[in-house]
Amino acid sequence: MYEGVVQDLIDELGRLPGVGPKSAQRIAFHLLQADPVDVRRLAEVLVEVKDKVKFCSICFNVAEDDQCRICRDPRRDPAVLCVVEEYKDVVAIERTREFRGRYHVLGGAISPIDGIGPEQLHIRELLTRLGDGAVTEVILATDPNLEGEATATYLTRMLGPLGLRVTRLASGLPVGGDLEYADEVTLGRAFVGRQAAT
Ligand SMILES: [Zn+2]
Repeated sequence: MYEGVVQDLIDELGRLPGVGPKSAQRIAFHLLQADPVDVRRLAEVLVEVKDKVKFCSICFNVAEDDQCRICRDPRRDPAVLCVVEEYKDVVAIERTREFRGRYHVLGGAISPIDGIGPEQLHIRELLTRLGDGAVTEVILATDPNLEGEATATYLTRMLGPLGLRVTRLASGLPVGGDLEYADEVTLGRAFVGRQAAT
């Protein structure tokens, strides 16, 4: 344990995803020794990102306005909706250039161990969005791991009665991994070869 503000810094860093107590300590001591100008810039960008970046009121993608760039783009196909777990998955799919529809970001995946159920995700908003009949196909592009599979299975059951075409990405994605780690070619192929969800 360290004195006052140093310990506060270690505690705050330790709350970040993937940062254990040892890493938190290492980062804290790095910051203590770093150039004050660099540290101030980091602090400013942290504050700025929370002030400026909002979430799209339609799809929950990251946005600098009320609506994100993709929802505002009239060239995007409003009939096809791709459901992903996180904002970073949107980035990964956009990189493939295989998808011209719109997105819905769930904000995570169903994970009972972590206390995340359907009500913690933007599923209610998804159902509301589908209510006007403009969307004819929903592509479930959750991560190829346990939580992603559970989420896709749940959504397939929920969307079944709506009479939409519900598809899943083709196999070939590295099982157990995150969508964002798949290379562009593999992810692009999985998109083109998508199949009806069962
Ligand atoms: Zn949006």
